[in-house]
Amino acid sequence: MSLDGKVCLVTGAAGGIGSASARRLAAEGVRLVLQDVDGDRLKALAADLPVETVVCTGDVSQEADVDAAVAAGLAAFGRIDLHHLNAGVPGPLTRLTELSVADWDRVVGINLRGVFLGVRAAFRRYEEQRSGGAIVLTASIASLRGSDDLLAYQASKHGVLGVLKGAALYGGPIGVRVNAVAPGIVPTALFAAAGNGPGGGDDMVRRASTTPLRRAGTGEEIASVVAFLLGDGAAYMTGEVVSVDGGAAAVSTVRP
Ligand code: NAD
Repeated sequence: MSLDGKVCLVTGAAGGIGSASARRLAAEGVRLVLQDVDGDRLKALAADLPVETVVCTGDVSQEADVDAAVAAGLAAFGRIDLHHLNAGVPGPLTRLTELSVADWDRVVGINLRGVFLGVRAAFRRYEEQRSGGAIVLTASIASLRGSDDLLAYQASKHGVLGVLKGAALYGGPIGVRVNAVAPGIVPTALFAAAGNGPGGGDDMVRRASTTPLRRAGTGEEIASVVAFLLGDGAAYMTGEVVSVDGGAAAVSTVRP
C-alpha cells in the first residue's frame, strides 16, 4: 500500500482504535510517533511494535503538547509524512438542559480544538517539507446523525467535518489529502467509562446488534480503512468521510 518507510503521527494511540491503527501501520512498515495522555499504555504499546517508534505523552488540546509531538517526530526521523488524528473523549450522556459548560468545553476542547491544532501542525510540517502528505481524522457516526442526549460529543464530531472540508480544500493544491473515518460502535474504553447503564459497553453492544451487519466493529476494522486512506490506493480521495459502522449510517430513523 505504498506506506513502507513512511512516518506517521497517531494521536490517542493508547486507546482501542488508535492502538489498532498503530499496529496496522507498523505492519505496513510505517515508523510511528505516538501521542496520548496515557504515557504508560503508550510505552507498553511501543515496546510491542516491530518498527521504530517514538512515544510522546501529551494532550492534543494543548498547543505546546501538539508542537512537542511534532518536534519529537522530527528529532527521531527528520520528517513526518502522515497523520492519524484520532484522540477523543466521549461526551456525557445527559439531558440538553443539564449539560454543563465545563463538560461542553472539555469535550469540544479535546475533540474539536485538538483536531484543529493537529491539522494546523501537520500542515505547517508538510509546507516545510514540500512533499505532500495525508491526514485521516477520526470522526464518528455522531458526525452524521443526531441524538438528544449527546450534544457536546456530536457537536464536536460534526465540527471535525468542518475542519476536514477546510483542510482538504487547503491541502489539495499542495498535494495533501485529508479524509475521515466515521466509526459506528466499537467496544473500547470510550464506552466502558459509562459503566453498564445507557451508553455503557453492554448497552452499545446491544445497540450494535440492530445495525445492518448485526454486530459491533473492531479497532482493526477501523484501522484497515485508516491505512487505505493514508496510502496511495486513496490517491484520488480528499475531503471524504468514510463510514465504518456496519451500515448504521444507512439506516433511516424514520421508516418510509
Ligand atoms: P479510547 O478511549 O479507547 O481511546 C481514546 C484515546 O484518546 C485514549 O487512549 C485516551 O487516553 C486518549 N485521549 C483522551 N484525551 C486525550 C487528549 N486530550 N490528548 C491525547 N490523548 C487523549 O476510545 P476509542 O474508541 O479508541 O476512540 C478513538 C476515537 O474514535 C475518538 O475520537 C472517538 O471519538 C472515536 N470514535 C469511537 C467510536 C467507538 O465506538 N469506540 C465511535 C465513533 C468514534
